[in-house]
Amino acid sequence: MTVVSRHPVQRLQPFTETIFAEMSRLATEHGAINLGQGFPDSDGPASMLAAAQQAIADGHNQYPPGPGVPELRQAVARHQSTEYGLDYDPDREVLITVGATEGIAGTIVGLVEPGAEVILIEPYYDAYAAAVAMAGAVRRVVPLVPDGDGFALDRDALTAAFGPRTAAIIINSPHNPTGTVLSDDDLTLIAQLCQEHDVIAVADEVYEHLIFDGRKHHPLATWPGMRERTIRISSAAKTFNVTGWKVGWLSGPADLVGAARTAKQFMSYVGSGPFQPAVAHALDHEMDWVAESAAALERKRTLVSDALREAGFGVHRSEGTYFVCADPRPLGFHDGDEFCRTLPERAGVAAVPVSAFVDDAATWQHMVRFAFAKDDKVIVEAAARLARLR
Ligand SMILES: *Cc1c(COP(=O)(O)O)cnc(C)c1O
Repeated sequence: MTVVSRHPVQRLQPFTETIFAEMSRLATEHGAINLGQGFPDSDGPASMLAAAQQAIADGHNQYPPGPGVPELRQAVARHQSTEYGLDYDPDREVLITVGATEGIAGTIVGLVEPGAEVILIEPYYDAYAAAVAMAGAVRRVVPLVPDGDGFALDRDALTAAFGPRTAAIIINSPHNPTGTVLSDDDLTLIAQLCQEHDVIAVADEVYEHLIFDGRKHHPLATWPGMRERTIRISSAAKTFNVTGWKVGWLSGPADLVGAARTAKQFMSYVGSGPFQPAVAHALDHEMDWVAESAAALERKRTLVSDALREAGFGVHRSEGTYFVCADPRPLGFHDGDEFCRTLPERAGVAAVPVSAFVDDAATWQHMVRFAFAKDDKVIVEAAARLARLR
């Protein structure tokens, strides 16, 4: 091995190419409707957009304080107290990050020693594996398994994955890419195992408000004994339809948040200055908008799921997020990668293969993810195109 190479370092080599870029390129090339990418078609609440413009006009254009502007930290703390009865000190237990992505990376790099293990639930959001690799840590993957028309944790595999080298577990509920909401029983098991093995939980709850069918989100930090060992991560991106603003936050006990901050301050130091007061405003005043947005998404979930079923796919139950997973095998397609590579040309629609989110490609090889945070008109047109696959 040479000391200086022009290639990414070894531990990052698995992360050079993302399938998402390739699928988006194919979508553009074939004029396909892009149900691959996970961002919404419409903007966030008008008062929040106006507050950001006002913040720029008012001169909030220099470095904000390292932990984030106080009014946003206070709004984040207030929000969690109102929603879940979780009380965090906005000065010591809340940190504003450059999106949830930096919150995840800062937490793992700041808290996990090289060589220690981090448990991920498969399929997993790609940024988790990259954060673990950047920390020089080792990921240990536990699968979701089919449960009726949805998914649940493989509880035996989860129990077996915890051991003396386990430093942390990252969970994500509602879950990207499957739309699974972990059951209270699954969360209870996670809470037990974390306490038994003295493991830190990182709860990626960016879809906390995008949950369907009358269900209510239950943060892992509300389980007995878990507030002291959980970093809870959320973001304005999915809550307020502003994926380009990169305003995220994490909350947890002061020592864990402090460790994440140690790493975070040398990743970006700070970010999104004028957007921070705007998000504070939205957390305080626009939760009705969020509820309406979630209700609209629930309807879109049903539209896309029905369209896929009509078109002949096997369709998994999506209980939240922007996503639904489908199985094209009944249509004669057994390889999700290949199916997604040819779908833009074949049907004028783009999706992404779930194999991009897993280590164990064989089990998930057939499955594909469709995003439904799109205009109704776009969904109707996509449905018509998919119907021609039969
Ligand atoms: C979109 C997404 C993120 C990233 O959020 P940002 O605030 O844009 O960094 C993190 N986790 C999951 C599961 C996501 O889907």
